[in-house]
Amino acid sequence: MYRNTKEILDKITELKRKRRAIILAHNYQLPEVQDIADFVGDSLELAKKALNVDTDVIVFAGVSFMAEMAAALNPDKIVLHPDPSAGCPLADYATPEVIKKYKEEHPNIPVVLYVNSLAASKILADYVVTSSSASKLIQRIGKDEVLFGPDRNLADHVTKRTGIKVIPLPPYGRCPVHQYLIDEYHLIKALEKHPKAKVLVHPEAPLEVRERADFIGSTSQMLKAVGEMNAEEFILGTEEGLSYRARKLYPNKKVYPLNPRAICIDMKKITPLKILRSLEALKPKVVLDKEVGKKVKEIIERSLDMLR
Ligand code: SF4
Repeated sequence: MYRNTKEILDKITELKRKRRAIILAHNYQLPEVQDIADFVGDSLELAKKALNVDTDVIVFAGVSFMAEMAAALNPDKIVLHPDPSAGCPLADYATPEVIKKYKEEHPNIPVVLYVNSLAASKILADYVVTSSSASKLIQRIGKDEVLFGPDRNLADHVTKRTGIKVIPLPPYGRCPVHQYLIDEYHLIKALEKHPKAKVLVHPEAPLEVRERADFIGSTSQMLKAVGEMNAEEFILGTEEGLSYRARKLYPNKKVYPLNPRAICIDMKKITPLKILRSLEALKPKVVLDKEVGKKVKEIIERSLDMLR
């Protein structure tokens, strides 16, 4: 029995060494999970990191599609996901059935999937992108139109950035956290409190919010912008966990979440105690069908190559 978080974190540090394990955590994770992680980043950074891991065990502090991706990129390692019920409601919009239907209706149009999708869907795509790589990769495909899903706001953002016709797959896919909690209502409230702050938003946010932003980018691009922009105050229009990371990186800047209640309950399911239990028991393991994992790896590597 552990008396407090400090004891749990100390035990995790000890077990990480014993198990030869690394903890990868997404920018939306709880502060204490970010603190104990060996690497914290956005989906693209985590995918790149997962490609070059030299430990025996990877503990993935994030949602299931991310843990699946780490497993696909590391078929010979043990990948642990401390709470397999931590899913992503956005990913669930792009089911394999939906993708097959769109492919039939739009033959010969490349299919680009957001990384927020399950492995069974990714293997039906030509490319996989993150919010930071979507516009660049879609431009490099060199076609006039692409099918893209499942986030319709990101699809719209890419169209506006590139001029390329992006057919949303499906037209109703959205992240509930960004769609309803990073909306215009909460932006107005945040600006009333912090009128001088620069507004940085994630492309999963609705159009009305993106139109009023000083900067639009992925979580890591937002962090970089906080460091580089000539301003002292920032409102971050994304899941509230990013504000903790930004404050830690830039203690001299004032950072406010656009909405402190913009919490992804799935991301927050990963706790230090679950990480510890996972390291103790070496489970729950992410088990991917070998062929599916191989195809996901190929698609991710092909997509990363396109960005070089
Ligand atoms: S914040 Fe949205 S897109 Fe990210 S994991 Fe949660 S539900 Fe999915």
